[in-house]
Amino acid sequence: MTPKQITPDFSATTQIDAVDVAQAEAAGFKTIICTRPDGEEAAQPSAADVAQLAAALGMGFVHIPITPGLFGDADVRRMRKALDEAEGPVLGYCRSGTRAATLWALAEADRRSPDDILALAERAGFDLSAQRGRLIAAASQAARPGLSAKIHDVVIVGGGAAGIATAASLLKRRPSLDIAIVEPAECHYYQPGWTMVGAGVFKPDTTRVPMGAVMPDRVTWIRQAAAAFAPEAKEVVLADGSTMRYRILVAAPGLRLAWDDIPGLAEALGQNGVTSNYRFDLAPYTFRLASTMKPGRALFTQPAMPIKCAGAPQKAMYLSCDIWREAGILPRMEVEFHNAGGVLFGVPTYVPALMEYVERYGIGLNFGSTLVGVDGASGTATFERKNADGTAERVEREFDMLHAVPPQKPLEVMAASPLAGAGGWIEVDPTTLRHTRYPDIFALGDATNTPNAKTAAAARKQAPVVAVNVLAALEGRAPAAQYDGYGSCPLTVERGKIVLAEFGYGGTLLPTFPRWVLDGTRPTRLAWFLKDRMLPPIYWHAMLKGREWLCRPDPIAPAKPQEAA
Ligand code: FAD
Repeated sequence: MTPKQITPDFSATTQIDAVDVAQAEAAGFKTIICTRPDGEEAAQPSAADVAQLAAALGMGFVHIPITPGLFGDADVRRMRKALDEAEGPVLGYCRSGTRAATLWALAEADRRSPDDILALAERAGFDLSAQRGRLIAAASQAARPGLSAKIHDVVIVGGGAAGIATAASLLKRRPSLDIAIVEPAECHYYQPGWTMVGAGVFKPDTTRVPMGAVMPDRVTWIRQAAAAFAPEAKEVVLADGSTMRYRILVAAPGLRLAWDDIPGLAEALGQNGVTSNYRFDLAPYTFRLASTMKPGRALFTQPAMPIKCAGAPQKAMYLSCDIWREAGILPRMEVEFHNAGGVLFGVPTYVPALMEYVERYGIGLNFGSTLVGVDGASGTATFERKNADGTAERVEREFDMLHAVPPQKPLEVMAASPLAGAGGWIEVDPTTLRHTRYPDIFALGDATNTPNAKTAAAARKQAPVVAVNVLAALEGRAPAAQYDGYGSCPLTVERGKIVLAEFGYGGTLLPTFPRWVLDGTRPTRLAWFLKDRMLPPIYWHAMLKGREWLCRPDPIAPAKPQEAA
């Protein structure tokens, strides 16, 4: 045991055993705080055993079990109380010491500045920077600077597809609602159009408008980012340190594209043949590369799930292949798909139609192959490949064109907030989209932990459900609408044809049209027409305006009366 001293009163260390308890007593510690649940590891002494030993040596003991990443407000309050009441110095422990240090930091947040806390922890060897947002929130709770007296009916965080659609659906139902949208970006993007930009079908500017153009007239637009969340006080702390208050919060801040997780990728993008349809400014470069390509090798990559629009990595590939087919160079192209996952598409029904195109275009499929490095100047990509025996190897592939899709993660501000569940995604009930721990919070879009396909199509269905349930919550009623997990992925297999995947939770097929009108399991011209001509106006003029075409919310069926025995 090597305790890391954060302050003279508090140190944190790794898991301790009986000998360590005796050593701690000899080193002068008066109280032990365990922040680890029992049974995480087979050899781990139970909290009760450590407590008994501590008591025998005249030391205090407190157990505040924390599941990794889940620091609840109640846990923080217990830690504050323990630190206030304990005789010091105190030794905190968990598996690595980080949970103990983090809980100390959060409990200390109303006493010291976030900078001081992070610096003290760093000096002791703990990087707690991911907690900055939450520390700021707690500090502002304590000092209350800039606390707005106004309490909005609804505060929506994020003015993307999900946030704007929800505001519009709410106002359609109740025009008098006082809604504020927290959104720092100056532009709103129709991201589903970027695949089409990458194939030269849409002009880039048809996918971008000034944010003000999509803000509903009656909402208050707060032009800055949410920096932290204080759900128990029903407050959101903004980037400038001021605080907003709400009756209901709707969180729709999207996800984070983790370009920097792949060494060399961020620097390489936009030159030397390295591109990605996942950025507005790069999608036109995809088209430029595809349309000026000389015979050579093109690599298309897909990171681990979850990602937004799981079909987008291969859509870029099929459309590029179609361009090369038309230019007559496809037979001399070497096209490879490197997918960190193990299947071409998560819902097996659509795979046969996609495989026909894989074979037609002569694409080499590489499953369990993850992009881990890019050297743009030499045109080399490095992949980590999983072998059947569980070992991994690194493989370098030279390329003339690389279409890279970045790993996708929760925003740091969300992952560090009490709203996050395991993995950092916002934890909501998958049916009502209400937060599992905070009944006055709802969340939708890419930021949640729900297992639907992260798509604008999903947000289109979710927004009316959230609107109905928010209004119910404002009136103190139970949620009244349900979401079935609908998401859609129009797989652009060639210019002019699409395999239209539409499915809900558990991969249940949820086609919008009867099969005789549109068979989503086959490539069809009608689905292309839908994507090319219908979906953009549906997005701009229906979804973002509260016109709920093809997405009326389903009421929650009343519980069936119990049958007599
Ligand atoms: P976003 O639309 O990303 O909006 C999030 C908003 O939150 C942004 O405006 C952001 O500025 C804001 N924000 C971020 N941080 C903060 C903060 N701290 N405080 C306040 N606001 C913040 N979907 C389909 O349905 N069909 C498709 O064919 C399709 N193809 C796609 C192709 C590509 C290349 C890409 C990239 C996406 C595609 N999608 C598709 C997915 C779709 O675009 C997303 O699922 C959808 O935009 C999610 O909506 P959202 O509101 O959750 O997130």
